[in-house]
Amino acid sequence: MVKKVLIIGAGLGGLSAALRLSKKGFEVTMLEKHNKAGGRLNQLKKKGFTFDLAPTFFSMTYEFKELADSCGIDIPFEFIELDPLYEVNFAGDKKFYRIYKDLNKLSYEFDKIEPGFKERMERYLLSASALFNDVEHTIIKKNFVSIMDFILQMTKVPVRHLPKLYRTLWQELGRYFNSYEVKVIFSLIAFFLGTTPFNTPAIYSILSYTEIQHDGYYNVRGGMYKIVEGLLRELEKDHVHIHYNREIIDYKKSGEKISCLIDNKGEEWDADIYVINSDAAWFRNKIFKRRSYSDEKLLRKKWTLAPFTMYLGIKGTIEKLYHHSYFLRNNFRDYSVKIFRNRIGLDEPYYYVNAVSRLNPESAPEGCESIFILCPVPDLRFKPDWTDRQQVADIIKDDLSQRTDYDIRGNLITETIYDPGDWEKMFNLYKGSGLGLAHNIRQIGGFRPSNKDEEYNNVFYVGSSTVPGTGLPMAVISSKLVMERITNEFSFV
Ligand SMILES: Cc1cc2nc3c(=O)[nH]c(=O)nc-3n(C[C@H](O)[C@H](O)[C@H](O)COP(=O)(O)OP(=O)(O)OC[C@H]3O[C@@H](n4cnc5c(N)ncnc54)[C@H](O)[C@@H]3O)c2cc1C
Repeated sequence: MVKKVLIIGAGLGGLSAALRLSKKGFEVTMLEKHNKAGGRLNQLKKKGFTFDLAPTFFSMTYEFKELADSCGIDIPFEFIELDPLYEVNFAGDKKFYRIYKDLNKLSYEFDKIEPGFKERMERYLLSASALFNDVEHTIIKKNFVSIMDFILQMTKVPVRHLPKLYRTLWQELGRYFNSYEVKVIFSLIAFFLGTTPFNTPAIYSILSYTEIQHDGYYNVRGGMYKIVEGLLRELEKDHVHIHYNREIIDYKKSGEKISCLIDNKGEEWDADIYVINSDAAWFRNKIFKRRSYSDEKLLRKKWTLAPFTMYLGIKGTIEKLYHHSYFLRNNFRDYSVKIFRNRIGLDEPYYYVNAVSRLNPESAPEGCESIFILCPVPDLRFKPDWTDRQQVADIIKDDLSQRTDYDIRGNLITETIYDPGDWEKMFNLYKGSGLGLAHNIRQIGGFRPSNKDEEYNNVFYVGSSTVPGTGLPMAVISSKLVMERITNEFSFV
């Protein structure tokens, strides 16, 4: 009887899959190349400061509840709801737009620049919610056996939503709103998918619905890494062992199955089922050397923007800084379109700031702030050289100082910078792309790398570059989908 499962990668996708499988009685072992679990959902500690490495908030909390319920456990961490959700500032403007879930409060922020804002937003969200409800179970949370199966499923989506597939998110917003600021702010969700609103299909307006009405945004009491610590506690109870600093670099096959995976120390690991949490396209290219995922093919795929991240420990309190803030400028279209291909400099960057210590004061020594900054930048295909990283970091710090009236350089206790090259090395992210494959029409659903391997019938995939897509709730849904796949393929489950 098949019992042993080997999971490659201890990111959220891998950990969630491990929990589901171990609760079903499988003997689960995990291998992780990094020295800690969590993948991108990780943590950095320095000089008494603690930082969330990458994700700082998330939506669709009920996916974590589904995971816990289906495993018969309580959710092993505590959500903190963000309301207001975040703030947005445009260069040269003293105003910080505050984004509320409450539409009355929200319209108070925008009524002057967008008369009739509330009614316009209600109509926008109504349309987005109708789409969300029509695709949540039929498309997002579904396995596809083939591209035809996906296309067939798409034909069942009510035809009134069809234009949203062909319209861009920016065009969709333009149908409801006139104000530049409103359109820019509510198109920022495109960057959560790692792309721009000018090439993201309008179907992703569903993210505005999940952000404002459906569920909102959440952080976690004690920091985002509590999610990982909670899952690790549960896995320990089930005797799931994780081996760190073990990177899979090769494999052996036997007929249509993998017989073992080989790590960087030359050790061979055999199992009945292999679940790959490493990027699904990268793994097929690098390890399986699959022609359909050749270097040329990967280069031509659409990848999400790479992260340039900074972790600052700062003396004092930056009064003007909210817990989550976006700092934008007034050349949104030009910048968004050019930044991907490194056709615009980083001397006037757009960036996001999370004041970690606002929600979780224990993340900084008393009287200090833990600050995380994320600036989306071109991936290594377009900007391979990051010798200018300190210069970029200084530009961002000075801009933030000026907008918040706080001397950041003068109060800096610690600074860590990760450029796309660091991100690539840490977690095997293709060319440093932060969110993996983009979500354009040709890379979603049945067109995304499948969670079942094309050649080896005992290999499955979980995580952001397989179905359904990127982000924390999607990684959890992905673990549910891979569990279903395994259940369908093997009658013993
Ligand atoms: C800067 C940044 C900010 C983000 N912010 C948010 C946010 O606010 N909200 C949100 O919802 N999402 C956010 N995301 C996205 C989110 O982090 C990811 O979608 C999610 O964490 C992906 O989880 P995963 O399990 O698919 O992959 P990963 O977290 O990448 O885990 C994969 C694991 O596999 C390991 N691995 C890879 N190759 C091998 C190998 N050959 N052998 C052994 N191990 C291997 C890696 O080291 C890694 O630990 C952000 C991402 C980034 C980069």
